[in-house]
Amino acid sequence: MDTTARNTRMRRAVQDVARRYQISRDGENTSDRLQFSVKGGEKAYTVTASRDWSARATCTCPDAAKLSADLACKHVMAVLLAEPELQCQCLDFYL
Ligand SMILES: [Zn+2]
Repeated sequence: MDTTARNTRMRRAVQDVARRYQISRDGENTSDRLQFSVKGGEKAYTVTASRDWSARATCTCPDAAKLSADLACKHVMAVLLAEPELQCQCLDFYL
């Protein structure tokens, strides 16, 4: 695993979420799934996370489609960091 790339991504996510991301929980929310709209630049992307940690969070951005399974895009990291209910899931990308 490329830990430098992972750590850079994590740091960027933390900086971005503090600065400018607008995260709203306005998607389809069910008892086991949460959806968020994440807007950083011009486009908004949808991040989907499982409440029970049964699946890794996913994102609709082009970056997420290109990443390997052990890396999260910055939208996913931003959501996981911003939502107390999901913060533990950051571990998925560190273990
Ligand atoms: Zn993304």
